[in-house]
Order: sequence, then structure tokens, then C-alpha cells
Amino acid sequence: MKIDLRSDTVTRPTPEMLEAMWAAQVGDDLFDEDPTVHALEEKIAQMFGKEEAMFCPSGTMTNQIAIKLHTQMGDEVICDELSHIYHYETGGMAFNSGVQASLIKGDHGRITAAQVEEKIRPDAFYMPKSTLVSLENTCNKGGGAYYDLEEIRKIRSVCKQHELPLHLDGARLFNALVETGESPLAYGEQFDTISICLSKGLGAPVGSVLLGTKEHMAKALRIRKVLGGAMRQSGYLAAAAIYALDHHIAKLKEDHKRTRILAEALAALPFVDRVIAPSTNILIFDIRQDLDAMAFLNVLAEKDIYAVPFGGQSIRFVTHYDFTDQHLEETISRLKKIDL
Ligand SMILES: *Cc1c(COP(=O)(O)O)cnc(C)c1O
Repeated sequence: MKIDLRSDTVTRPTPEMLEAMWAAQVGDDLFDEDPTVHALEEKIAQMFGKEEAMFCPSGTMTNQIAIKLHTQMGDEVICDELSHIYHYETGGMAFNSGVQASLIKGDHGRITAAQVEEKIRPDAFYMPKSTLVSLENTCNKGGGAYYDLEEIRKIRSVCKQHELPLHLDGARLFNALVETGESPLAYGEQFDTISICLSKGLGAPVGSVLLGTKEHMAKALRIRKVLGGAMRQSGYLAAAAIYALDHHIAKLKEDHKRTRILAEALAALPFVDRVIAPSTNILIFDIRQDLDAMAFLNVLAEKDIYAVPFGGQSIRFVTHYDFTDQHLEETISRLKKIDL
């Protein structure tokens, strides 16, 4: 049994999801004629109380479109130093928008209203302009930590005072929502734009959506096109996403439970130095100082367990739809047999 904990993107569509894809009505979305893409965009916009949504091939693209929407060349984006937009989008904010990041050292990827306020630049011709604040929830590099909605409200209020738009990289927002019980509407209220991945824990094969106002989406349509992200019969993918929204949200809680059990098991193993207590489906742990992370990944691979290195002694496990109770049991039993 192969155990793939590299990411929650490794899932394959379930037979039921494939059925939904098979049955989809499609058209050419570049001509704005794909009814299933329309249905997905309307459904998710409504869930979050936003005017419109746009289906894109990836979460990198939805984030990059949002940054482009809100900034001009030479501006600055305020975000946590662990942000995906800073680490894992190949310098996209510089490449696509000509902007730089103003980094905050937060708590597991979460920043506070006071920290945001401190970073906002005075209006001076010799300084970059702070024109966007971007939050990430849950935070990937922060071990899947999620925000307290109260803090987000405070950040929103600081942004309002300074007339700064607020973007959410909500690649795994539903992981946060199932834990806190908060509604998508409460999140929709706080942000100008939201990016959500359907291909992570929700288990769709491809796709992310960007949410915002009608005006945002009119501009976003041009940006998506110039980035090469306009698709054709993408209704087949949208059908999978609709299926995921209808059937897979509640299941995220099971991933979280399995992550906690895995964390407890890891903490007791002799080769583990430290485990970051998981909040959702991401588990980051450090192996002992005398061990080499890459060599350790090879040891795991010999046991048919796959993970990714996360800097220094850190290793990341991500649980997902295809990681069942049986996989969990098997993983723990194999980990216990590792003699290091
Ligand atoms: C996965 C992810 C994205 C987008 O990734 P794609 O692989 O481009 O879809 C954005 N932000 C975070 C926090 C992510 O984990």
C-alpha cells in the first residue's frame, strides 16, 4: 500500500465525481458559453456573498490575478513571511505585477492588525506604496494554522482606515471553516478578493476560484487571458468542483482527526525531535539534529511512504481524501519499524 502524504493535491477523482464530470453540460468558456462553469462560479459566489467568481486553472493564478488587480508596479504587498505568494509562486508578484513583498514575522503564518498597521508606509515619493494586504488561511508553511476571525476583523478595520484592499489566499479556507464552524459568508464580508483551491482537500482534479466584485472580475478576465488561463470546455472540471463543494467539505474534518492521531504517534518516535501541534490537515515535524532530512525521506520511501522536505530538519505530511483510517494505521505501524 503506497502512502502518499506529500500533499492534499495527490487525490484522484472518486467514481461519483467522475460520473458528475461525465454528465456535465459544456461549452466554450472563452466565449462565456459553458453552463457548468457558470454554475460553479454562481454557486461559490453565493456561498461567500460575493458578486462574482472566476474559475482558473490554479491557485497560483488566482493569487497572481488578485495581486495584479490591486497593485501598480513598484508597490508593496504586506504579508506574512511564510506566505505562499512569497515562497511558492516563483517570484510571481515581481514577474507579473512588478511589486515586492513587505514581510511580517507572524505566529505560524498569522499576522495581527497591529503588525499590519506598523508596516503601512507613509506616503512618500521615495518609498514603495503599500497597496495590498494579503492573508493566508489556513497557512501552509505555518503547519495549517488558522486565523481567529476577530483578528481578521481588526485587520479589515486597519485596511479600511488606510484604504487598503484585503486579499485572502484561502487555498485551504474550507479546512479552517470546518474546524471553527464559521460561515463562508462571514469570510466573504471581510475580504475584497478571495482565492480558493478546489484541487486540495476538496479533491477536485484541477482548479481554483477567485471571488470579488463584478468590477474585479471584469478586470480579472483580461488578466486571466494574458496569463494564458482562459480555458474552453472547462465545465468538465467545474463539474468535479461542484461535486466536491456538495460532498467533500464535511469530510475535511476526518482528515484533521487523522492528522492529530498521526502527530501523537510521531511525537513518541525516537527519530522525531519536535512536532508542531496540527490544527488542520498539515503536520510539520522536525527529525533529530544528527539525521539528514533528504536521507530520512529516502528511508520513508523505502517503506512506501512519501513526504516533502520543509526546510532544515522539517518534514511535512499532509492528509487528504485518499488517506483512510487503514492508511493511518499502516503508516503508524511502518513508522514504528524505522530504526534510526
Ligand atoms: C496550493 C496553494 C496555492 C495554490 O497552488 P496551485 O498549486 O497553484 O493551485 C496557493 N496558496 C496556498 C497556501 C496553497 O497551499
